Amino acid sequence: MGSRTFDMNYRPDYNPRALFGELAEGRSCSDCAVCCTVLEVSTPELKKPAGKTCEHCTGSGCAIYEDRFPVCRTWFCLWRFIGAMPDEARPDRSGILFGLAHPEDPPHPFAKTYIRAMAFEDEAAFETELAQDLIAMFGQGDLPVWISTSDSDLFLVHPATEIVDVVLGKTKPKSRQQKKDAKAWEAGVRQHR
Ligand code: SF4
Ligand code: SF4
Repeated sequence: MGSRTFDMNYRPDYNPRALFGELAEGRSCSDCAVCCTVLEVSTPELKKPAGKTCEHCTGSGCAIYEDRFPVCRTWFCLWRFIGAMPDEARPDRSGILFGLAHPEDPPHPFAKTYIRAMAFEDEAAFETELAQDLIAMFGQGDLPVWISTSDSDLFLVHPATEIVDVVLGKTKPKSRQQKKDAKAWEAGVRQHR
């Protein structure tokens, strides 16, 4: 997929809580500040490119925490939402930032609303058992899952290529199950606008 931008901005019409509910109880960012470096921010109050640490970041928190910007108060990685992700999946520990993405101009039919996993320092972070388990966990869900490093194109790992090809009309379904799965994804892809 062309777009590599992973940004901190939710579209005004979009509420991640509709998908994931409230933040996981008892969980805080503590001294993680990965999103303050890894993500692009483009709001009137704060602009910074992906990969550049925010000028307000202390390295283990935010120097203006009480007065931080609206975008900083509303964006959370999936580790903050999903209690089933273990403590060691916190982005600064796992090396992978899992987030929800929903670009204004999706560059791919399966990229309207999707889960993005970025190994922001080292691609090898994807090789751990933890990473494999997490990707498998998200692979049980009904949102597409794309993975990337900080400077690579995104790679779609869920759903399977055969299903994507059927939905996109590139191939015919090879089984009843495939046809059923493709139909479900087609409806889901249409629904996530
Ligand atoms: S990456 Fe997640 S855990 Fe880390 S600071 Fe951002 S929201 Fe908090
Ligand atoms: S203002 Fe604070 S919370 Fe927002 S990106 Fe910068 S360091 Fe992070």
